[in-house]
Amino acid sequence: MDSAAPTPTLQQRLTQQLGRPSFYLYLTGVLMLAGLLLGHRLSERASLDQLSALATERLELYASNLQTELGRHAYLPSLLAIDDSVTRLMEQPEDESLRRAASLALARVNVRAGTTQIFVADPEGRVLASSEPLTPPLRLQQAIAQDRHHFFAADAGQAGATGSTNFFLLHPLRRNQTLQGVIVVKLNLAPLEATWVDLGLRSQGERILVSDDQGVVIMSSVEDWRYAVLNHADAAERDRLQASARYPKVGPDLGLPGALEAYNSLLVRAPAPASATLLAQERQLLPLGLRLLALSDLSEVRRQARLAAWSGAAFGAAIGMLLLYLASRRRALRQLFHAKGQLQDAHAQLERTVDERTAELRQTNEELLEQIAQREQAEGELLQTSKLAVLGQMSAGLSHEVNQPLTALRALARNSQRLLEAGRTQAVADNLQTMDEMVERMGQITRQLKSFARKAERVSMAVSLLSCVNNAKLLLEHRTRALDLRFEVEVPEGLRVRAESNRLEQVLVNLFANAIDAIASEPPHDGAERRLRVAAVPLEDGQRVLVQVQDSGPGLGEALLPRLFEPFFTTKPAGEGLGLGLVISSKIVHEFGGALRAHRLDQGMSFEFDLAVETWQAEEGQYV
Ligand code: ADP
Repeated sequence: MDSAAPTPTLQQRLTQQLGRPSFYLYLTGVLMLAGLLLGHRLSERASLDQLSALATERLELYASNLQTELGRHAYLPSLLAIDDSVTRLMEQPEDESLRRAASLALARVNVRAGTTQIFVADPEGRVLASSEPLTPPLRLQQAIAQDRHHFFAADAGQAGATGSTNFFLLHPLRRNQTLQGVIVVKLNLAPLEATWVDLGLRSQGERILVSDDQGVVIMSSVEDWRYAVLNHADAAERDRLQASARYPKVGPDLGLPGALEAYNSLLVRAPAPASATLLAQERQLLPLGLRLLALSDLSEVRRQARLAAWSGAAFGAAIGMLLLYLASRRRALRQLFHAKGQLQDAHAQLERTVDERTAELRQTNEELLEQIAQREQAEGELLQTSKLAVLGQMSAGLSHEVNQPLTALRALARNSQRLLEAGRTQAVADNLQTMDEMVERMGQITRQLKSFARKAERVSMAVSLLSCVNNAKLLLEHRTRALDLRFEVEVPEGLRVRAESNRLEQVLVNLFANAIDAIASEPPHDGAERRLRVAAVPLEDGQRVLVQVQDSGPGLGEALLPRLFEPFFTTKPAGEGLGLGLVISSKIVHEFGGALRAHRLDQGMSFEFDLAVETWQAEEGQYV
């Protein structure tokens, strides 16, 4: 037998997980992280693209600016080459007056053209004429020798000065292919650089620098970077650069990527002391041999990315929470439906049970009603049987009661005849009186018999307890007298109970007859008094009364007491007892709203029953 639980399928496990709130908390965490990373990444990329586009645009602007500035005077040297004073000077370079005339002309042109300086030098680089007194740059000789048309150099002779870079335009003066001299126009780039510095200051995030073919910065919006080495330079390299006399003093290394590398949206470390990452953008100015670099600060990009990251995380969290809410709602609804279903089932079950029980009850009820009907019928029959039994019992007493007076009556009648013949009328009258009394007594007995035989009316009314007791007593008087029995009646005269007189008498006759039977069953012994006592004891503040019928008979054994009220229980000899008297009596008392009980006395038995009291007092007196 396989007792292991079946392993859940993947789908079951997934459904199980989806029902757990902790799963959604994990999911929210993951979504937050994903939102954070994605937001950061996308925003950074977009901002970088935007920044690089902007930088490229600016770079273009700076480049055209520089080119325009440098190209503005390109025509000037060639124009001056055909100037009279210059051509004359070239014919006689040593002539002092010609030099002065040329210098004057150059000074005039210099002022008009807005250049920095203009001068004429011989092939060795010595100045022949100039717009103002000057020391030619050390590079001049080299440039003439290389037949260059332009070069950059810092101010010569100003050792240690940060200075600014000058742009020199050269035009050779030749005659018959021989170089006689050179016209040099000097442009100082400081004003242009100043506008860059200004711009750089204003747009804090962007730095501009121009490096020459040696990888040395010759112009920059950051003053400290001027003449700095773009990449790295060792001591020998530095010496070489210094010796080239292009720069007043070679500055520190900027540590930017190598000179040959083309910068296009390249992320670089900012030169010391700042160590931020910068976006580098490059524009080559090939004719001039220059590289224009823009370094953009990324702090704004970073800020935007951070913002986007947090937004992404918040979005992820919101989605996670929404999913959690939806899942919880779904679960709650499912539980609700489940509970509802269970409730409906329980309700249906309950209804079924109620129906079943109702049917059972109805059946039981019908059975009970049937039983009651049967019982009532049986009781009716029993009542009748009991009456017959009582009648049978009484008929014996009755014949005795009637025979005696009849015999007496006959004797008295005969006696009266004789007395009448003798003329003793008074004695006849006495006899007649006695006869009348006897007839009255016989009438009384037959009346009782009639009332006993009459079918009882089921109407309860106020009945005098004492008269019922007396009637019952009268019915049994022939027996009490024979037994020499003391009949004590302690019932107040005015006491009226709610009962029906015939049937109450029937109960009393039964009880009295039983008591008499019990007493009679014992032979009389010395000193023992034969006694039958009927008493009325008030109960419940006089609302009810307890009727006690007590005798001095032998009583009944404890073991037989519970059987007393069983139908046909009798201890009397066959033919004498039917065992119905107490059953019928109990039934009648019950109908009056009371209960019949029996208990043993020290000597004899006590039968007691309670009845509702109508009145305690007669009109003429009060019960005490
Ligand atoms: P019956 O008188 O026909 O026997 P009852 O129902 O009246 O039927 O009485 C049942 C039995 O209860 C009697 O046979 C008798 O044994 C007993 N019994 C009734 N009353 C007394 C009494 N007062 N003392 C002793 N026994 C009694």
